[in-house]
Amino acid sequence: MKILVAVKRVIDANVKVRVKADQTGVETANVKMAMNPFCEIAVEEAVRLKEAGNAGEIVAVSVGPAACSETVRTALAMGADRGIVVEAPAETEPLAVAKILKAIAAREAPGLIMLGKQAIDNDCNQTGQMLAALLGWGQGTFASKLVFEGNKLRVTREVDGGLETLFLKLPAVVTTDLRLNTPRYASLPNIMKAKKKPIENLTSGDLGVDIAPRLEILKVAEPPKRSAGVRVANVADLVSRLRNEAKVI
Ligand code: AMP
Repeated sequence: MKILVAVKRVIDANVKVRVKADQTGVETANVKMAMNPFCEIAVEEAVRLKEAGNAGEIVAVSVGPAACSETVRTALAMGADRGIVVEAPAETEPLAVAKILKAIAAREAPGLIMLGKQAIDNDCNQTGQMLAALLGWGQGTFASKLVFEGNKLRVTREVDGGLETLFLKLPAVVTTDLRLNTPRYASLPNIMKAKKKPIENLTSGDLGVDIAPRLEILKVAEPPKRSAGVRVANVADLVSRLRNEAKVI
């Protein structure tokens, strides 16, 4: 069974994100970029499924500027076999990414498509769900455990009240939550080996997908600065301030 893994290039999770002065978005010039952390978890899980004999080939796909090939290369160094970069603007919307992944699924016929539960740059949490709907496949979102049972996949999902377990018929779409696994660091020999693994470059036009934006971002703003706290003298003072100043009781 082939696994397709979608990997997004985002601002590195350790970088303090800055909003552009004109509030049209966030600064990305000269900012360290990396694979979206939830996508790393998806790649790790795909590699573990392959190591356990449940998967054959792993194909990593990224949609975005040419530099996405670095993100795909990271997936190859972690253990993916082959990569695809679909060149598109960095801000390509989840629906357009889902349509591109659907077109790639039609060419590659994977048994499983794995995505992160959300990209940490736009926090959309939409692509996997839209992809499953477009394909008409079952989906297991926020997966914290995956187990193959025959030709079905048992997915444990992290939901608000606890854990939900469901069976998915393959082919299916799975999105990964934080606790599914701890991604490995690529070893130097594997980074070297990854340089020889093939990456195919495509455009949305090659796949016949219209990626024109449907949304308009009106404004991006930093959260309001927190004002300094005050030390209260005693409980009576606290209650008085809550009542008269904060007016919350
Ligand atoms: P989102 O719906 O934007 O929060 O993204 C959820 C997941 O969809 C990500 O973790 C990726 O697995 C996948 N995804 C979203 N955008 C892209 C992209 N441009 N290229 C590859 N995968 C993507």
